[in-house]
This record gives sequence, C-alpha cells and structure tokens, in this order.
Amino acid sequence: MSFEHHILNPATEEVVATVTASTAADVDAAVVRATGAQRAWAAAAPADRARLLRRFAATVDEHIEELARLEVREAGHTLGNARWEAGNVRDLLDFAAGGVERLNGRQIPVAGGLDITLLEPLGVIGVIAPWNFPMPIAAWGTAPALAAGNAVLLKPAETTPLTALRLAELALEAGLPEHLFQVLPGAGDVAGHALVEHPGVAKIVFTGSTRVGKRIMAECADRVKRVTLELGGKSPNIVFADADIEAAAAATPMSFLDNSGQDCCARTRILVQRTAYDRFMELLAPAIEAVVVGDPSDDKTQMGPLISRSQLERVRAYVPGGAEAIRGSAPEGPGFWFPPTVLTGTAPDAPVATEEVFGPVAVVLPFDDEQDAVRLANATPYGLSGSIWTRDVGRALRVSQAVRAGNLSVNSHSSVRYSTPFGGYKQSGLGRELGPDALTAFTETKNIFISTEA
Ligand code: NAD
Repeated sequence: MSFEHHILNPATEEVVATVTASTAADVDAAVVRATGAQRAWAAAAPADRARLLRRFAATVDEHIEELARLEVREAGHTLGNARWEAGNVRDLLDFAAGGVERLNGRQIPVAGGLDITLLEPLGVIGVIAPWNFPMPIAAWGTAPALAAGNAVLLKPAETTPLTALRLAELALEAGLPEHLFQVLPGAGDVAGHALVEHPGVAKIVFTGSTRVGKRIMAECADRVKRVTLELGGKSPNIVFADADIEAAAAATPMSFLDNSGQDCCARTRILVQRTAYDRFMELLAPAIEAVVVGDPSDDKTQMGPLISRSQLERVRAYVPGGAEAIRGSAPEGPGFWFPPTVLTGTAPDAPVATEEVFGPVAVVLPFDDEQDAVRLANATPYGLSGSIWTRDVGRALRVSQAVRAGNLSVNSHSSVRYSTPFGGYKQSGLGRELGPDALTAFTETKNIFISTEA
C-alpha cells in the first residue's frame, strides 16, 4: 500500500506537490541497490571520486536559485536564507571533495614489523533529516559520507522532501553513479524506522528532536549500529553589563527569529546582567518591533511563517494570552504566522524558559554576576550553542569554558560553518559533524601489523 504526502506552502496553505511515501519494502530495495553502488564507489580512484563530488557541487551551484525558490515554497524560508542554504550544500560538497585524497591513515612505530591503520568506509549510511533546514542538514551527513567512500540513503522530513529529491536528480546529472545517493521520502516511523532497523545500514546520522533521537539511539544499540545525533537546544544569549549594549541589543532579534525560531541553535534564553537590564530592554523593544515579517519570497522579509499548523499550535500553547511581552508583527489570513515575542515576566523554571519551543519566542531573565550567569546558562538538559557579550577578554574565555555547550560565540551569534566542528553537549547530541574531521565519522579504523621477521 502506498501513501501520498501533500506538501503545503506554509505561507499560503496551498498544496505545492504530492509525494509518494516510501514503505519498508522500498527501503529494503534501496539498501540492496546502494550496497552494490557503494562497493564500486569505494573501489574507484580517490581522485575520480573527488572530481565527481566537485562536479556535483558545481551542478548545485548552477541551480542555487531554483533550489532556493523550491525551499521558499515547501518550507516558508526567506529567500535570502534559502539562497544561503543551497550555497551551503555546494560548499559542503566542495569541502568534502577536498578530503577524499587527504583521508590518511597512520603508520605507528612498533617492534618487529610495520604497523599501519586504514580508514575504511562503513558502507551504506542512513541520513534522517528534520524539516527546519532541509538542505544543509541533509548535506552535513551526505557530503562527508560520500567523500569517505560510502553510499547514502537520505530520509527527509515528511513536510520537506522536495529539495532533497531535487538534489538526488542533480547528483545524477553531475555524473554520480546511480543508486549511490538515494532519497526516500516518507514517514519517520515507517521509512525512517526501516533505515534504523535495517542490518544493511551501517550508521544512522539523525538530526531532529531529542525525543525521537533517544528512541533511535536505543534501537541502534540493539545492533551496536553507529549513530550520530544532532538534537534540540535551549541556548543562552548572555549579555554582561560591560558589553557593547547597543550591538548586543541590535543582534538579539535575529539570534532567535532567524528561520522563525525553528533553529536548534536559536538563542531563546536572553540572560542580561541586572545593572544593564533597563538599557538593554529599552533598545531591544524597537528592534523586535522593526523585524519585517511576511511573504518569504520578498527579498526584504526577515521572518516568514512557521512550518505547519501543528507547529503553530505548539508555539501558541507556550505563550499564554496576556503574558507580559514585547511583540512584533505578523500577517493575518492564511499561513502559519506567529509574531516575534520576547517574554519578560517568566520564571526561570517555566516550561517556556526550559523547553525547546521551536518558534519565534524567547524569554529574558536577569542575572547578578558571572557565576550566576554561568549557573543559569547551564540550568538546562541541553547544550548546543550560546553567545557571550562582553568587552572583557578574560571573562569571555572563562565563561566560554564554563558553559557546557558545543558551539559558542563571543560578541556574535554564529554557530555553523562547514569548516568547523558542530554538535551538542548533554541531551543536545552525540558525536560531531562538519569541520576537519567530518569524513572520519564515516569510517572504521583498521589496524594491520606486518611482521618483518619472517
Ligand atoms: P523529529 O524528531 O520529529 O523528526 C526528525 C526526522 O526523524 C524526520 O525526518 C522524521 O520523519 C524522522 N523520524 C521521526 N520518528 C522517527 C522514528 N521513529 N524512526 C526514524 N525516524 C523518525 O524532528 P523535527 O520536528 O523534524 O525537527 C525539529 C527538531 O530537530 C528540533 O528539536 C531541533 O532542535 C532539532 N534540530 C537539531 C539540530 C542539531 O544540529 N542539533 C539541527 C536542526 C534541528
């Protein structure tokens, strides 16, 4: 039996496309095809593999505008963001291509012979992606996995399969071998689950909610299947009184409103030192009100809609009517709209202050001193990212070392670069992606000793 998924434009609620969902049998057949393709790929000359990946990058580059506009339609991303996201896929492929011929093993000095270690591909990799950044997150797993000699089966989120399907077509157009990179749209508990359970899939790269990630980790444990998890976040934006308060306030809106707050790195806990609190809030209110919310295909728009009605209901449930807040604007009518919202009278242990909302909602909490700031920043099961605003270099370093999170930025809100490692502490994840070691996460280390005494 096959099921159809209607893909809705979140800004208009119109149907953009209908996609047939993959079944467990489809996953089985895809694994068989991928296994054959992987063997040939791993045996090909490294320089040829690198060349094909660079060609894939160039083909993506030629289709940036098409991919971006497709993402605007299926995910409601602003056009500027969507262009960056398609460009990020190109950059990830180029960066990974550079690693193919640098995936060096080691030669370790030992007695009585020669000892070498090889980095071998794992085989078939299952990449399970969320809907919030469909293209970049698919590529975080796919590009280094292919570069390290693996095949990839990508399961995009139910609501956002279109750019993934298009990327698979572009891979073929670029000359990548058939079946090496396949996309299996479908339900998480059907196609996703089948990938996790399949004995022919060597590793799962999962990005999504902590709830589903825990379940996948438990299922992988049964087969000692390799797993990387990129999960939720509730990241702090720590503003010390000695910071450039104007710059900190100006940068705050987009630190949690980018992608309508549907960002695992969103700085949704704004922690402000009490002595600078009034000044900061005075500057923050007009900055929030000035954020341009509306048609995501308009170049001037800074924030679009939420992904779906159910996400809108979820966000609404976190924000009680009449709550003390700074509110921005949002369009009326069709589409899944929620205004930028900063809650000002929230208890530090309220659900909206501790749970991942995944919408354009932040809380602001005052703190007294450095120790208090670190305590509040760490008072969460998550540990993905965070920002520290201060002019004191010593404090910037002390607090960066004390905050238990994988990706911190000082006097900025940057988190993700393809060339630097990314991932979470605590319940934000397991393992790292991106950066100089991205390819090794898709290899098995084999040690060989060759006796010279015979
Ligand atoms: P989700 O966990 O609901 O779904 C993620 C993916 O898993 C989807 O493709 C879904 O179909 C699939 N899935 C669901 N149940 C499954 C199962 N039983 N077996 C296998 N696959 C299954 O998450 P979402 O709502 O799509 O994404 C939002 C979440 O992703 C947020 O929590 C966000 O913080 C997180 N996220 C994390 C990062 C990071 O790098 N740490 C990046 C982006 C998003």
